[in-house]
Amino acid sequence: MKCPTCDRPILWTDEFPERPFCSERCRLIDLGAWLNGERAIPGEPVDPSGLPPERHPDATSPGGTGPGPQR
Ligand SMILES: [Zn+2]
Repeated sequence: MKCPTCDRPILWTDEFPERPFCSERCRLIDLGAWLNGERAIPGEPVDPSGLPPERHPDATSPGGTGPGPQR
């Protein structure tokens, strides 16, 4: 028996409570891969190209007399 995630040999015993995976980590990795629809390892950094723009509350009203909506 091999761990489907990392191909490490495991035994079908209580020594491997996460069988057929060698560890909980590998089980979560495989679960995450299936949930994502692809073989991706959870925990990887998010693609930095999708960073949301920083918001400054008062950036659109310099001086306080800007054309912005009044409260
Ligand atoms: Zn493994």
